[in-house]
Amino acid sequence: MNQGGRTFRRIDTGVATASELRLEKLRRQVAYLEERSPFYQGKLRDAGVGVRALESLESLVRFPLTTKQEIRESQEAAPPLGRHACVGLEQVVRLHASTGTTGRPSWVGLTVRDVEIWTQLTAESFRTQGIRRDDIVVHAAGLTLFVGGLPVQDAIERIGATFVPIGTGGSEKVLGAMRTLGRTVLHCTPSYALYLAEWLRAREIDPRSLRVRKLTCGGEPGAGQPAVRAQIEEAWNAPVTEGLGNADMAPVIWGECEHQVGMHLTGGEWVYAELIDPETEEPVPWETGVEGELVYTALERECCGLLRFRTRDRLRVVGMDCVCGRPGPRVRCIGRTDDMLIVLGVNVFPAAIRDVVAELQPRTTGAMQVVLPEPGPRVEPPLRVDVEHAPGVRDLDGLRGELETRIRERLTIPARVTLVGPGSLPRSEMKTALTRIEETR
Ligand SMILES: [Zn+2]
Repeated sequence: MNQGGRTFRRIDTGVATASELRLEKLRRQVAYLEERSPFYQGKLRDAGVGVRALESLESLVRFPLTTKQEIRESQEAAPPLGRHACVGLEQVVRLHASTGTTGRPSWVGLTVRDVEIWTQLTAESFRTQGIRRDDIVVHAAGLTLFVGGLPVQDAIERIGATFVPIGTGGSEKVLGAMRTLGRTVLHCTPSYALYLAEWLRAREIDPRSLRVRKLTCGGEPGAGQPAVRAQIEEAWNAPVTEGLGNADMAPVIWGECEHQVGMHLTGGEWVYAELIDPETEEPVPWETGVEGELVYTALERECCGLLRFRTRDRLRVVGMDCVCGRPGPRVRCIGRTDDMLIVLGVNVFPAAIRDVVAELQPRTTGAMQVVLPEPGPRVEPPLRVDVEHAPGVRDLDGLRGELETRIRERLTIPARVTLVGPGSLPRSEMKTALTRIEETR
C-alpha cells in the first residue's frame, strides 16, 4: 500500500510539474513578446492583457486571437519577417514558407534554438507513430520550403532512423528505394499513398509486393477517415498512422500511436493547444465528442512567436485517454474552415463525402470531386458530386442511388451524383482538390 501511495504521489507531482513548467514557459514567452514584438506589444496593450494576467494556462483565454491575415499584414508592413518577429534575419538560420491554402505564402524564420525545438517536437510525433531506430523512412512529400520537408528529415535522423529524401514527383525513385532498401516506411500525404498505389498497379506491380512496414501520413485530412484509411491499408497491406502540424506553428504537433485511435498531442511541451467555437470564438472544453477550431500558442519561440493562433483546422475529440497510457485528448482533423461548405444550414466538409465514396469500393475508385457553380461556402441544394466508378461496373444507376442515399443519411444533405469513368478525375501527388468550380461557357 505504501508502494502504491508513493507511486500515486509521484505521478501526481509529475503532472503538476509539467503544467507548472508550461505556465512558466508561457509567462516567459509573453514577457519576451512584450519586449521584442511590435505586433504583440500593440495587440496586448489594446486588449489590456499582459504577462501579469497569466495566473494559469487557462487564463490565456482572455488574450486576443491571432489570425493568418494579421500575420500576412504584419509581413507586408515590415518585410520579410514581419512586425510579429522578435529577431532580425541575422539570427535566423533557416527560412520556411507557409504555403497557405488562402492567399500568398509567408516566411517563417527559425533561429538555432527554434530549429532544435522543431526537431524535438517533430521527432516526438514520429516516435509516437512507432518510428524506430532501425526504420528506413522514404520521404515522398515536399522538401523545398515546406515545413513538412527538412524538419521531418531532422526529426527522423534525431530518432536514429534512416531518412531517404525523395520529395514529390519521384514515383520511379520511390519504387527503386522500396525495391532495394528492404522493408521501408512510406511518409507522404494520403493522396500520394493512393496515387502511388494506382501508379504501381498501372505498371502491373502490386504495392503489397513492396512489403512496406507502415505509412505515416499528413499534410491533409484523409488518413484519419475510416474508409480512406482502409483503402490505403488494403492497397499496401500495412498500417497507417497520421500526424498533424501547422506551417506557422510547428511541423508535426500531433501523432497517432500504434493503436490507431486518433492523434495524441505530442508537442504539448512546446505548444499550448486550445479549441474554440469558430463562430463565437468562445473556448470549447477538451471532452469526448466535441468539435472546434484548433488554436495554438507557442511556449518557446525565438523568431516568430504566436499567441492563440487560429489554424482554421477543425478537430473532433474522439476520446480522452488511450490504451497506450498517453493522457489527454485523442483527435481527428475533420477538415479546414477554408474547405467547408454550407448546404441547407448544414456544415459539410468535402473530406467527409470522400469517405462515403471510399466506402463503396471496389465499385468506386474512391476518387470524387464536389462541383460548385460558384465559390462557397453556401451551396444551393442538391450538392453536385462527381464520383469515379470502377472498371467493369454494370449497375451504374444502382451505384448512383446508393451514393446519394448514403450522403443523405450520413451528412443529412441532398446530393446529386454524376458517375464518371475510372481515371477521369484529377489525381494529385500532394493534396487532392476535393472541390472544383464549374466552368461556364
Ligand atoms: Zn495511444
